[in-house]
Amino acid sequence: MTKLIFRGTGDSMGVPRVYCDCEVCAEARATNENRRLRSSLQIEDQDAGTIWIDCGPDFSKQLESADLRSVDTLLITHAHFDHIGGLVEWADACRWTKQKGKAFAPSEVIGEILDRFPWLSNHIDFQSFDQPIMLGKWRASSWRVNHGKNGYAYAFRFEHAEKSCNWVYCSDSIGLTVEMQQPLADLDLLVLGTSFYHEPFAYETRSVYDVLEAIELVKLWEPKRTILTHMSHDIDLRRGYDLPEQMEFARTGMSITI
Ligand SMILES: [Zn+2]
Ligand SMILES: [Zn+2]
Repeated sequence: MTKLIFRGTGDSMGVPRVYCDCEVCAEARATNENRRLRSSLQIEDQDAGTIWIDCGPDFSKQLESADLRSVDTLLITHAHFDHIGGLVEWADACRWTKQKGKAFAPSEVIGEILDRFPWLSNHIDFQSFDQPIMLGKWRASSWRVNHGKNGYAYAFRFEHAEKSCNWVYCSDSIGLTVEMQQPLADLDLLVLGTSFYHEPFAYETRSVYDVLEAIELVKLWEPKRTILTHMSHDIDLRRGYDLPEQMEFARTGMSITI
């Protein structure tokens, strides 16, 4: 059995945004329904232990809410701050506990991380995730996706070795080419990043799908279930958005079994 727990469902700024007094940010401060930490996913697997996707600046808070002191395996989608800002703290924790951390990321992502923080490799063992790896009974593979004006990120596809069950984590992408969309075929679950409901800005200034585009993508690939994450303060979870059946917004701490 594998459990997925949404520890972070926010965009790069999180919700509330520190400078912002909009209705959603105000609500997040008051009652927490829209409070969103930077995107990350906890995967509890009976064979692989705790796998964690991305290590943003809220990593230590997220570990506290999971009541964990560390993770067994970290997967990293790309080297933007909202996805790696917690690595320095994790490396320090690994130093104190004398247990070297284990992180998988595509080689070019490892290169970018170590260019900026070369000392991390003293305490974290970065292994290349260019080829598929086995995590318990899950075969995990990575592929490069467009991240709009922010360059590129990677998405991950998980396929179970013994039963027919496939799912994808793709938090930071936009304008996927036909080729980049191929791993979205035959999915039981798609976890997709959508920062806004409808992002009105010029396409070349954007970096993540909006909800309306996600609906189009899902119509095409028909995953059995879609969960939207990486949401900005534009998304108000108190509102009904009339999402298609089998599509929902992730909520902080939400847990599902796959
Ligand atoms: Zn991001
Ligand atoms: Zn706001």
